[in-house]
Amino acid sequence: MTTETVAAEAGRDFIRDIIQADLESGKHREIVTRFPPEPNGYLHIGHAKSIALNFGIAQEFSGRCHLRFDDTNPTKEEQEYIDSIQADVHWLGYDWGKNLFYASDYFDRLYEWAEGLIRAGLAYVDDQSQEEIRINRGTLTEPGKNSPFRERSVEENLDLFRRMKAGEFPNGARVLRARIDMTSGNINLRDPVLYRILHATHPRTGDKWSIYPSYDYAHGQSDAIEGITHSICTLEFEDHRPLYDWFLGKLPVPAKPHQYEFARLNLTYTLLSKRVLTLLVRDGHVSGWDDPRMPTIAGLKRRGVPPAAIREFVKRIGVAKANSVVDVGMLEFCIREELNRTALRRMAVLRPLKVVIENYPEGQTEELEAVNHPDDPAAGTRRIAFGRELYIERDDFMENPPKKFFRLSPGNEVRLRYAYFIKCREAIKNAAGEIVELRCTYDPLTRGGNAPDGRKVKATMHWLPAAQSRPAEIRIYSQLFANPSPDASNFTVDLNQQSLETLNDARVEPAIAEANSLDAVQFERQGYFVRDKDSSADRLVFNRTIGLRDTFAKEVGKG
Ligand code: ATP
Ligand code: MG
Repeated sequence: MTTETVAAEAGRDFIRDIIQADLESGKHREIVTRFPPEPNGYLHIGHAKSIALNFGIAQEFSGRCHLRFDDTNPTKEEQEYIDSIQADVHWLGYDWGKNLFYASDYFDRLYEWAEGLIRAGLAYVDDQSQEEIRINRGTLTEPGKNSPFRERSVEENLDLFRRMKAGEFPNGARVLRARIDMTSGNINLRDPVLYRILHATHPRTGDKWSIYPSYDYAHGQSDAIEGITHSICTLEFEDHRPLYDWFLGKLPVPAKPHQYEFARLNLTYTLLSKRVLTLLVRDGHVSGWDDPRMPTIAGLKRRGVPPAAIREFVKRIGVAKANSVVDVGMLEFCIREELNRTALRRMAVLRPLKVVIENYPEGQTEELEAVNHPDDPAAGTRRIAFGRELYIERDDFMENPPKKFFRLSPGNEVRLRYAYFIKCREAIKNAAGEIVELRCTYDPLTRGGNAPDGRKVKATMHWLPAAQSRPAEIRIYSQLFANPSPDASNFTVDLNQQSLETLNDARVEPAIAEANSLDAVQFERQGYFVRDKDSSADRLVFNRTIGLRDTFAKEVGKG
């Protein structure tokens, strides 16, 4: 299949087919989806899949997509996460318009409905401890046991539930449970917890509540209140659907959304669990949620990944019903493809070696023209100073080169990009025998990079003028985990100890210092880089977004 076909076909999947059919049959006239994050961490690339699916569907079918915070657990949720989630959804290119909601908006209604369930004999207050509830829930092979409090009267249940709400009891003393079936084959139906006591200040409702609804109780009802037509979620909630449908059948809800499940995104060399990501941050394995090695949207953004690359990636992987693991090379492929198209070209010397052009007059400089993008003349050109003292990449010189080394070596001639041919005469060493400087000559007739006599050179190298280039720190990242399938339950052993290499003495073109800090540029022959927020007026810091080498394409090319 060509990439065009893949991209075009990614526009169709089983969920979109269902939606199309629902519109055609008249079951729905307007499509309403939602993205329902819990604000207990930053969004990651897996969430991007869900965001693109929900917001994408709303766009394609002229419907709307709500952003709803599932803020039912104030002990884990914070305003910082709410803010970051909104910023990240916008950055990805999606907009909820006026449709910003919180599950906490519905706390009053959810409470009323819970009292309704008690009155109907469908919910009861249980005094068992958390541990007892867990044990008595049974297992996949053994039925659960009824709670000794299951037969309480409606009056007693109402009284206790109201006192739970009034804050009379300590955390964990009691819960409200649905009264369904402790022998059900589906454990989610074995009298699930609807409310727990939690004396905690909520970011939005403050100290109003001493009880909070469970995710399972709040989630489906929030969808119903908002008139969501297609509640799209990941496969782990498939077994919860009978419970959600039970609530919809028993409560006076204004709508009955249907839930559809799709496979969550898994990536090689990556863990997409908020629990793990939280620990990585908390225990200092990374510098924060936006550390460029993190699979978070904030991390990818700081790394220089354009949102279009993430959207393209999500489109290519498609939406399916079977869990799978996507090669992280696929994401890298999309990043390279987007940046190759859009990133301006610049020069940087990551590990500089000084070059003195002996036959270039002292004190003289000139400006040479360099193109900003080889495939886009509209991107224009810029000027780079050339003079007697330059820097080249340390790796581009070898004193005793092997046979196939065509870059600079004593006596060998090479081209400096956009500039001149140069030849190395001598390598100067320090007392320790390390090369500290090259003495070279240039051919003034090769200005612009071609020899009038037609002679050829086998290598073109990037370089920078010593005086006019700027010092910079460059951070080279590789995978955070060394293991292609890191173990989420013991992830520290799989951490890649070499995931960050810092180059302190790099040099960059002055034009980069002026560039928009949010856009990655290509450092010719090196890869794509973006200015980091740690940069200051006198110290530039760059992150390597990704190298130029496309190992993934080689891998798939074999097949
Ligand atoms: P946790 O890791 O604690 O289970 P979560 O990642 O599921 O959390 P939520 O805030 O509940 O966090 O996620 C919001 C939405 O994003 C949910 O609808 C969830 O199904 C979806 N989502 C989460 N992870 C992925 C993923 N890896 N791929 C696709 N969708 C995801
Ligand atoms: Mg979740």
